[in-house]
Amino acid sequence: MKLFNLLTVYPEFFESFKSHGLIKKGLDRGLISINVINLRDYTSDKHKRVDFKPFGGGPGMIIQYAPVKEALKKIKPSKIILLSPQGKLLKQSKLNELSAENSITFICGRYEGFDERIADNLVDEEISIGDYVLSGGEIPAAAIIEGLTRLTPGIPENMESINNDSFCDHLLDHPHYTKPNEIDGFSVPDILLSGNHNEIKLWRRKQSLGVTYLKRPDLLKNVNLSKEDDRLLQEFIAEHQEKKSD
Ligand code: SAM
Repeated sequence: MKLFNLLTVYPEFFESFKSHGLIKKGLDRGLISINVINLRDYTSDKHKRVDFKPFGGGPGMIIQYAPVKEALKKIKPSKIILLSPQGKLLKQSKLNELSAENSITFICGRYEGFDERIADNLVDEEISIGDYVLSGGEIPAAAIIEGLTRLTPGIPENMESINNDSFCDHLLDHPHYTKPNEIDGFSVPDILLSGNHNEIKLWRRKQSLGVTYLKRPDLLKNVNLSKEDDRLLQEFIAEHQEKKSD
């Protein structure tokens, strides 16, 4: 069982998160557990405030050190992650690494952020979900938990499909189609209706290489292409250029 602790000032945020899809399935099957901790329960302030004005002046409020430290004292040993736009950018490789942990605690910020002594002394790492600023750490924490839940054996119906998804082998996923064969004059590629599994596998690999080349060429720098991959990619590029010039 994987345990996710969440320290937040908005515990109710996670109610709907826990009641859908793979998260719900993981909880129902006892394969994950989500323990939401209200930071306000750990403040000595009579109004239950956990934030205060910044030293030196300026706008916004800062989450104080003491409530975070007190809340952390109540949890069992766990990897502690602070959600912050200043953290290391989240990638699939980080999710793969974190999937080995049995217990992770997420500290969700709000307002202007945290007293810096929290980041310096109470956490193992800071993670950002992108180069933009949200108003709280709840969505970033939920994104990480969702990414980890779908990597947990016994939760997704089909681990094979997870292993074929984008970024698993540094490439983007190939395109997918479903019925009908034709709609609004747009058809499914013939090969997918051929029943020839070998040819379909090759086509999918070629598309995967090709869409990565078109949409995220930076990813290709991290892949060691086999001779066959190289041939498939050259074919894709030639076909793509031919289509463009039609
Ligand atoms: N003053 C902070 C800064 O500029 O670095 C931003 C604070 S933000 C408004 C409030 C909280 O939202 C942060 O403490 C963090 O927990 C969360 N947050 C916002 N953007 C995030 C991101 N891209 N990744 C992870 N957490 C984020």
